[in-house]
Amino acid sequence: MRDEGNESMTSKDVGWGIHVVDTGFQRDNMAACYVVEDAGEVAIIETGTKDTVPRLFEFFEQQGITPEQVKYVIVTHVHLDHAGGAGLLMQQLPNTTFVVHEKGARHMVDPAKLQAGATAVYGKVEFDRTYGDLVPIDKDVMKIPVDEEVLTLGGRRLTFIDTPGHARHHFCIFDDKSQGFFTGDTFGLAYQELTTRKGPFIIPTTTPVQFDPVALKQSIKRIISYNPQRVFLTHYGMVEQPEVLSEVLLSRVDKYVEIAQKNADNPNRLQGIMEDIMAFFLEELAMHDCVLSKDDIVTALRVDAMLNAQGLDVWLSSLAK
Ligand SMILES: [Zn+2]
Repeated sequence: MRDEGNESMTSKDVGWGIHVVDTGFQRDNMAACYVVEDAGEVAIIETGTKDTVPRLFEFFEQQGITPEQVKYVIVTHVHLDHAGGAGLLMQQLPNTTFVVHEKGARHMVDPAKLQAGATAVYGKVEFDRTYGDLVPIDKDVMKIPVDEEVLTLGGRRLTFIDTPGHARHHFCIFDDKSQGFFTGDTFGLAYQELTTRKGPFIIPTTTPVQFDPVALKQSIKRIISYNPQRVFLTHYGMVEQPEVLSEVLLSRVDKYVEIAQKNADNPNRLQGIMEDIMAFFLEELAMHDCVLSKDDIVTALRVDAMLNAQGLDVWLSSLAK
């Protein structure tokens, strides 16, 4: 891979042949994809949405990567900020295998259900604007790894680990060369603007509709059992000392559950959970020595507080059944 030292605003070389490319989803530094290169072979991990595809091709041009070099397009799970652009991207790559979790594959073959689900949440206007028509992917170009299966990319080994909890169709990928894990949403999220001298501010993400706290905590512990030196978060970027972060993350999963349960009988349950989560974020960020104003914090975390509250609300309903 050519590296001319004048990278665009939207990509960053983090080492070990790994670049973070901003998908452009919603705002800068909100959702990443990763381009991994080894001995002339390239893997793209996470695809963002339709609007990410031209960004990726622009990045390839800067780096002198040809579409023929792309061996794998991998999505950690099929939520649309991770996989919405996959079909459109695959259409433009001639030799590429699409790698997806067993439980997500059928939704990529036939995206009608994903499209209907997301349209119900966001409305048709917003769905069309952000995601557009989802392009189906042919089953013949798909690889569905089993738990702990290894795929090689150049000289490196990518190990696929089943990690339910955020979603049942979620795997994470351990990369032996960087000793790092591509964790999608399983290892939570940490926006860079909330990083302080105390480190990244990591929080779980419980987007509807499959949040399962017991499974999520097991998956976080399983990631740590590989002794990774770093994790590559989709939201957003590389963070180090994952073992330290995992302790915080596990305790915050418990805190979310506590907030949900406290609001179980609240007639305004969703609103109550959302307000309690935002209050929790503000309190924790103050202890994290965050110097952003309350308004800036609310702006950074408003969408996540809402999505997390929705996911916890769905989880409470599933317990009641
Ligand atoms: Zn996500």
